[in-house]
Amino acid sequence: MIGVDVLIIGTGVAGLTSAIKLAESGLNITLVTRTEDPNETNTNWAQGGIIYSDDKDLTSDINKASANTSNEEASNVLVKESKKILEEILFKKAQTQFDKDENENLLFTKEAAHSINRIIYKGDYTGKSVQVSLLNYLKKFKNVSILQSHTAIDLITPAHHGISIRQRYEEDQVIGAYLLDQKTKEVKKIISKKVILATGGIGALYLHNSNTDGARGDGHAMAKRAGANISNMEFIQFHPTTFFAGNSKRRFLISEAIRGEGARLYNSQNERFMNKYHADEELAPRDVVSRAILTEMIELKDDCVYLDICDKSPNYLKERFPTIFNYCLDKGIDISKDRIPVVPAAHYTCGGVKTDLYGRSNLKNLYAVGEVASTGLHGANRLASTSLLEGLVFGFRASLDILNEIDSDSLYNADHVQEWINGDRDVDLGLITQDIQTIKQTMWNYLGLRRSKNRLARAKAMISELSDEIHKFYKHAALHDELIGLRNSVEVSYMVLNASLRNKESVGCFYRES
Ligand SMILES: Cc1cc2nc3c(=O)[nH]c(=O)nc-3n(C[C@H](O)[C@H](O)[C@H](O)COP(=O)(O)OP(=O)(O)OC[C@H]3O[C@@H](n4cnc5c(N)ncnc54)[C@H](O)[C@@H]3O)c2cc1C
Repeated sequence: MIGVDVLIIGTGVAGLTSAIKLAESGLNITLVTRTEDPNETNTNWAQGGIIYSDDKDLTSDINKASANTSNEEASNVLVKESKKILEEILFKKAQTQFDKDENENLLFTKEAAHSINRIIYKGDYTGKSVQVSLLNYLKKFKNVSILQSHTAIDLITPAHHGISIRQRYEEDQVIGAYLLDQKTKEVKKIISKKVILATGGIGALYLHNSNTDGARGDGHAMAKRAGANISNMEFIQFHPTTFFAGNSKRRFLISEAIRGEGARLYNSQNERFMNKYHADEELAPRDVVSRAILTEMIELKDDCVYLDICDKSPNYLKERFPTIFNYCLDKGIDISKDRIPVVPAAHYTCGGVKTDLYGRSNLKNLYAVGEVASTGLHGANRLASTSLLEGLVFGFRASLDILNEIDSDSLYNADHVQEWINGDRDVDLGLITQDIQTIKQTMWNYLGLRRSKNRLARAKAMISELSDEIHKFYKHAALHDELIGLRNSVEVSYMVLNASLRNKESVGCFYRES
């Protein structure tokens, strides 16, 4: 057993930000990541940028993008507090680099559905700049440890993991987590006063997606099993423009910022088509652009559409979008001369563990921040470049709340918590791979950009059969990171399915044909 003050699961922008104030106050913090490299996060892959503004139109832009469904209180907090938090955490402490002009003034860009230029960026690798600088800052603290290649299996609650039935009558709370050390296969029981879930989204459950493989909803599934409320799971945002490269499954993102800088969409008939779908054309909200592209692809029986930024000079493109420029060049497309083949892909999870504006879930001592959380900020659809900021703002606020409370907390008695009992049957990796592929296909085809009664019914039949099978062999199998992911994936696909069945109304990024 290991006892710590605060256990933070996830090392992206949300987890790292929430650790900062706690680390500075001398608390004993453990951060966990299932990857070997703590920088392997969706945060690291963010390209476009992060909002740095408190202008009066930001709330209405967030709300407009969400189809009037965003939680106004959450967006008011974000608009009011984010500038100060960003200055304190990124500028002053982490010293994150952003692009500036020759007079050292920050450069601002615009993305879809933003009414003004309010996004700061570092080339097209803003996420990397944020990720690496935050992690470097935290590495200075001796009271912060990072467990790498450790997969969180389950959150510990007295009701589920106590050694006596009487513990079921205690207040519902989270008192730690079981972690699988992937190298030794040992399961560690971590007891902590507070647990912060910062495990990111679920994009990787879709056949075509822009996310890291780890975005498989582990946090959503763990929280639900522990008894946390989950909300808005039907709202999966698809990014309209990812690089189309035949059969390759993970889609490389072609940032919205490129449309912000003037790129135009064309179909295979050389027609610009966005004016048929929205007055803002290429800068319409993401769901509108994604569905417009899909409609063009279906009508013309094409595999992709094309993005054109050829009117900009090669030097400008190389400097402003170095990652995209080099990636495309590597695939044989010189973006200063050629149009980029693009398709939509699953990108962002608007829903998640329901929290208040300090990241508190309905379970005592369990916080959720970043993409795993649902503050309601994004409602049914997310405004571009709000998610790094959301991780920053609500990670920061969660840490303040914890600092207010933690002095009066004590660690739960570890002797009253069961040890993890590991199964002994070897996992059949072939079965796991096949089941994961089935989930991804089902999510893409039946729980994707366009859902309908028939598709949802088909998804229900497939997911429930899979779920029975997976839970059967999970019980007796020796634990393995992929197996943990598989169980979570099937549970999370149920969340998306059930939320989609309940919601009869097309809204934001959720679209039902029937
Ligand atoms: C290609 C791409 C481009 C993007 N561009 C932008 C942009 O320009 N601007 C913007 O605002 N947003 C952008 N986003 C969205 C944004 O990057 C994410 O929403 C945000 O970074 C999520 O941060 P997070 O801290 O919540 O999660 P992540 O950064 O995804 O981190 C999740 C962490 O949880 C860990 N984890 C997960 N499960 C477990 C487990 N069971 N046990 C242990 N550890 C676990 C992972 O290893 C990882 O450390 C982009 C996303 C992608 C994929």
